[in-house]
Amino acid sequence: MTRFNTQLVHGLPINDNNTGAVNPPIYNSSTYAFESVESMPRWDYARSGNPTREFLERQIAQLEHGTRGFAFGSGLAAIHAVLSIFQPGDRIVVGKNIYGGTYSLFNEFFTRWGVRVEAVDTADYEALDAAVAGRNGEDKAKAVYFEVLTNPLLQVNNASRISEVVHRYGALSIVDNTFVTPYLQQPLDLGADIVIHSATKYLAGHSEVNAGLVVVADDVLGERIYYSQNRLGGVLAPTECDAVRRGIQTLALRLDRQQENALAIADYLLAHPLVKTVNYPGIHGNRDEILRDNGLKGFGGVLSFEVVPGVNPSIILNNLHIFHLAVSLGAVESLAELPCRMTHFELPREERLKVGISDELIRLAVGVEDKQDLIEDLGQAFELAYTEYLEEHEGLQTLGKLSV
Ligand SMILES: *Cc1c(COP(=O)(O)O)cnc(C)c1O
Repeated sequence: MTRFNTQLVHGLPINDNNTGAVNPPIYNSSTYAFESVESMPRWDYARSGNPTREFLERQIAQLEHGTRGFAFGSGLAAIHAVLSIFQPGDRIVVGKNIYGGTYSLFNEFFTRWGVRVEAVDTADYEALDAAVAGRNGEDKAKAVYFEVLTNPLLQVNNASRISEVVHRYGALSIVDNTFVTPYLQQPLDLGADIVIHSATKYLAGHSEVNAGLVVVADDVLGERIYYSQNRLGGVLAPTECDAVRRGIQTLALRLDRQQENALAIADYLLAHPLVKTVNYPGIHGNRDEILRDNGLKGFGGVLSFEVVPGVNPSIILNNLHIFHLAVSLGAVESLAELPCRMTHFELPREERLKVGISDELIRLAVGVEDKQDLIEDLGQAFELAYTEYLEEHEGLQTLGKLSV
């Protein structure tokens, strides 16, 4: 058995052509000829199965240490298919800090469908235990759904501890591994039952495709998700399957650079007088302990920070030249955004503040550029924000913290 980096590049044999091509072919065919009326061909119709899609599905199953993978037209299509294995009346516990689109899918779409949703702090194991067990005579939850690194505050959820609590009650542990990828953690090894990716982010890695992936290790679960995939039909098209396949080949290379850059930027921000707080677990003195305790190999390329009160974060964001002002993450180019106006705009302000997403919080999704260029880009934008601050607060230039 080869190691992870080798698996990324050629984990699966290319045994489907007579040409010696080192990449698998793209099968742009929605239907497949039968040899005879009596034959039972492996492929008949592309919603049910396509060889290019199957290549990607086997690739992600291998990397996540599962047995079956499934590719969808987006991360949300993948999550939709997974949630569709439940029944009206089922109770599902969700982490209190999850991706906005997922939150809405649970709370607006699936509650309408009769699924009951309860949000809980998945880092509070007593609260989690009580929620899964069912308080006040409620029935036990059927599943717990959470993200390993929360967005945009980068709090760490422990996949093995959470799965352990979940399994006490025979429920399923469902992990959105988008921010972490199989390079940094393989949740199925830690007890999770279903792993989901928005492959739009790190796995595809070039901001060119929307895609979602699901991996399981259990055959019965695999059949249920295959049924959802084939009946709901939100499958990923062959050319896009190939784009994700190719992106995955450089996953580790990109993430190594993204993490190196993120750490350098986090250290820079930590020392900057206009910065109040930095959210990136990699800056903590006990980072090795956090990694070990949580079964992680790194913290990824996303971080967030708050500017000090009085400094306008929009001035910083509107004046970046290398960072694009954009949502999404995980690609080769660096992106910056204001969660309260962009990724988390739909959350009511009070809810946002309660979970710690203030109006001064900026999120960075760090790419693979030269870290010094990224830091200089931030530096010149900070200078402009500081000049504006001084104009607004004439006479307050001597304020200790702000003497840059
Ligand atoms: C982007 C994202 C999703 C949704 O994926 P799409 O590909 O945009 O549908 C789900 N979960 C997380 C953590 C994400 O970042």
